Amino acid sequence: MIGQELSETGKRLFRDFPILRMLWESGRKKGIRETIALIEKAEEFNRTFAVPRALELDMRMEREPEYFDWEIMRRACKYRFLSIFIPRQLGGVAGEFMVTNTSLLMDELCSGCSGIALAVGAHSLGVAPLITSGALAHWDTVLKEIVEGELKEQPVTMAYAITEPSAGTDVEEPEYLEKARLSLEAKKVKGGYVLNGRKCFISDGSEAKYFTVCAALDRNRPLQTWTTFLVERGMEGFSTPRVELKMGQRASHAAELLFEDVFVPDSHVLGYEGDGMGNGILMIMAASRGPVGSIATGIARGALQHFLAWARTKRNGKRPIDEDRIRMNLADMWGMVQENRGLYMSNAMLGDAIFGKALDNPIMNLTLGLPSSLRTMPLMRNFLNSYYGKAMINAILRYYLKDEDMTQLLETASLAKFSCADNAMELCSRALSIMGPEDSEERRWVEKCYRDAKLTQIYEGTNQLNRLVVNNIRFEETLRVEVPRPFKKGVMA
Ligand SMILES: Cc1cc2nc3c(=O)[nH]c(=O)nc-3n(C[C@H](O)[C@H](O)[C@H](O)COP(=O)(O)OP(=O)(O)OC[C@H]3O[C@@H](n4cnc5c(N)ncnc54)[C@H](O)[C@@H]3O)c2cc1C
Repeated sequence: MIGQELSETGKRLFRDFPILRMLWESGRKKGIRETIALIEKAEEFNRTFAVPRALELDMRMEREPEYFDWEIMRRACKYRFLSIFIPRQLGGVAGEFMVTNTSLLMDELCSGCSGIALAVGAHSLGVAPLITSGALAHWDTVLKEIVEGELKEQPVTMAYAITEPSAGTDVEEPEYLEKARLSLEAKKVKGGYVLNGRKCFISDGSEAKYFTVCAALDRNRPLQTWTTFLVERGMEGFSTPRVELKMGQRASHAAELLFEDVFVPDSHVLGYEGDGMGNGILMIMAASRGPVGSIATGIARGALQHFLAWARTKRNGKRPIDEDRIRMNLADMWGMVQENRGLYMSNAMLGDAIFGKALDNPIMNLTLGLPSSLRTMPLMRNFLNSYYGKAMINAILRYYLKDEDMTQLLETASLAKFSCADNAMELCSRALSIMGPEDSEERRWVEKCYRDAKLTQIYEGTNQLNRLVVNNIRFEETLRVEVPRPFKKGVMA
């Protein structure tokens, strides 16, 4: 019965992810149909666009790291991948399985080319703090602009900036932020803040129009004063002077952001002063480290497909797959992919259970159901940006997002992140060792996957840090995510 209703993609997904079949059978057909349709789009994106150009683009960006292929973002618009995290009420495509769909999408896209996929996915990382901070005043402007641009295939994108030249791991964990040596500082002035300093390694940093940026208001008290800002390209004194030469995932840029007396108005603080670690980082990491696990899984699956093609090809009259040792390795590799999927899906489904309620509840639906012209009226905008407006949104968030839930989400996210990344490295490394030094197209693919996989051990917190996060939540109970409390006073008051 199921077979007749499902496309080939649906059948593949049900075979690989029995949990999706279970949801379908238990009455969530509408949501699962959307998931299948999304993955069909990702398959088409890979088949018609990403895969045919991935190797060439990877080589070109080694020679010309500054080059960026804007066609990536235009195609992402065509398939509406830029609004995967934007609520439907605002014209986006985020539905009941927002986090699960994001994870499955990244797995699929990364099986084609994770560099191209990262250029698409890092944008949603930039969008996430706007959503989790409940910055309603910017939903009708920034998020609407992204959706409108997407519909016209004129990409408007975002990036997320926390890393600084001498503080990478340090800004990802409260204990280390306390002692971090920071470069960027935001000084309070009349009507806003003036930002000076640098951020580095920011994915999509040289392309994005909007940035969610964390900065200390006082570098001597970083943890207490860590605050999230919305920064716009074009603000005076803001520039993105350079990009890195990357070892992997080269199709997306990692850029430096330079702030020279950049004035950011009060209205552009997301959440409250001092919310940066709770709202600005830990909540984002709880939602984004799982998808990094799925990025690693997609890379591993891509490598496995190329290894399988290699193993099925005759060499000197023999096919490698006819040897038991190769067949056992293939089974091991598939085991690693499926182990990864179990881990990132646990995180994704928990994420949907938590965020689903926060985004789809009577108060939110009522607020988002109002005509946007009403919400964008100066009086309303001023209220939403005011202390009491923010307190109202924070009260809703606190009602639905509980510290215990967000802490559990962070634990599952970190576990998925480091396990999937390590499995991806192990899989690619094993495939390369078996293939040996021959020069074939399949080997070139696996070598690219190896370089791509390495980066998943580094970003969204290194694997070492993520191991400590799991330990600190599960065994020592010293780490806890604190959802911002309503009616919080400014920390510099
Ligand atoms: C491709 C790419 C894309 C990125 N995109 C973004 C982005 O979009 N936005 C953004 O803000 N950042 C981004 N980053 C930055 C990334 O998050 C950092 O590189 C990462 O957090 C590590 O920081 P670091 O490079 O400063 O290394 P360091 O923090 O200097 O770490 C160096 C080594 O020391 C280990 N180490 C450090 N402290 C500890 C400790 N206390 N205990 C145990 N081990 C420790 C680390 O695990 C690592 O092995 C990106 C990085 C890369 C490579």
